[in-house]
Amino acid sequence: MTVRVRLAPSPTGTLHIGTARTAVFNWLFARHHGGDFLLRIEDTDRERSRPEFTADILDGLAWLGLSWDAEPVIQSEWIETHRAAIAQLLASGHAYRCYASEAELEQMRERQKASGSAPRYDNRHRDLTPEQQQAFIAEGREAVVRFRIDDGATIGWSDLVRGEMRWSGSDLGGDMVIARRAPADRIGDPLYNLVVVVDDAAMAISHVIRGEDHIANTAKQLLLYEALGLPLPVFAHTPLILNQEGRKLSKRDGVTSVGEFRAMGYTAEALVNYMTLLGWSPPEGMGERFTLTQAAATFDFDRVNRAGARFDWDKLNWLNAQVLHELAPAELSEVLVPLWRAEGWSAPGASRNAWEQELAELLGPSLTTLRDGVEQARPFFERPEPDAGARQQLGIDGAIAALTAVLERLEASDSTDSPDLSVEQAKSLLAEAAVAAGVKKGVLMKSLRAGLLGSLQGPDLITTWRLLHASGEDRTRLMLAVAQG
Ligand code: GLU
Repeated sequence: MTVRVRLAPSPTGTLHIGTARTAVFNWLFARHHGGDFLLRIEDTDRERSRPEFTADILDGLAWLGLSWDAEPVIQSEWIETHRAAIAQLLASGHAYRCYASEAELEQMRERQKASGSAPRYDNRHRDLTPEQQQAFIAEGREAVVRFRIDDGATIGWSDLVRGEMRWSGSDLGGDMVIARRAPADRIGDPLYNLVVVVDDAAMAISHVIRGEDHIANTAKQLLLYEALGLPLPVFAHTPLILNQEGRKLSKRDGVTSVGEFRAMGYTAEALVNYMTLLGWSPPEGMGERFTLTQAAATFDFDRVNRAGARFDWDKLNWLNAQVLHELAPAELSEVLVPLWRAEGWSAPGASRNAWEQELAELLGPSLTTLRDGVEQARPFFERPEPDAGARQQLGIDGAIAALTAVLERLEASDSTDSPDLSVEQAKSLLAEAAVAAGVKKGVLMKSLRAGLLGSLQGPDLITTWRLLHASGEDRTRLMLAVAQG
């Protein structure tokens, strides 16, 4: 069988992490089998669908590296095919027009609630005579189209994740609406379950892989496949993503869209790696850090768990750090420089590239996210205000004397006019200054860090100093520290 799978996002919001994870599983399965990964934009909810959401979804998938194999299908362009399928179901008696008004349906639901029974349509217009229908039409009533679901029907399928599934027709809420209300000589807008079946068949989808919140829809859709005489795909229902409390991850949990993760400084590599682990256990020996291509080589549904997958920030952070630490300095600066430019920062002088690459290399090992690569770079581009720890350090005995001794030697040394301060020069300059000021080297180092970065935390001191020397900032900052001390 040729594997053809699809992601069918509704462009009613930005790319959600749950949709993206579904995309990952579809993509891995397609690539594993050398099949096609297709997209269908389900834009039939005309009020809520927006082109900018379609753009966000496509952009997010492309950023994640989830390449698709054909132009996306735009569902609304196929509406006549959907109407034709409904007409076919009306003609074959699988569907009928229901004239019940909203108010009548509401009353029905109120009665069900009062008697403690589950809400369902009571199939009241299933067997109207032609005269009854005419009477409703004469009243000017509009109708929805409903698909018959027999209470006695049993529906079963073999789910790639969940195994043998069985549903009873009586649990599906009564005859299902497949077209919205419209004048009785027309077919109103086709609805989700019908449309999905028609489209999946038209696209020759072999495997429908989607979240387990669609299980009840699958039961309904199987009845539609049968009534329309369409070949069945195989189904795989993937576990939901849960929040820390074990409930379905929702907007209330804060970050849920791929764009938000991206803005927080997560890399596409780490995010797809992490999403793959949300519900899939890699085979023994593979470890947890892998590329999409590596995962595709071994991906199958036997290793997809049925239980919901709890979102684990620590693991995502760990993976993101791995990805960043694996980058060569040139690659890392290629990623960081645009973020620095967005802050309005650029390195001084002719050797800008080398300086920026050295800064990237310096910060690299301590980065968890790319945002860290901005925040930790900030004091290299913007003169920092000393924090409490730095102020305290600069207040201790000998601190100012030590920085003054450094400044004197900086001024005396030839290096002041040259942007280069070599590691050896820096080290011997420090040793001399410590002796001259009569302070321990530790005091001098801490004070220098406080004076240069306004903080006692930070990356390697000598490299930090060399960079700030090259940008002509070291003397200014040390003079300010001395003046304030
Ligand atoms: N548009 C549906 C959704 O976004 C598609 C579900 C499906 O894959 O059939 O939930």
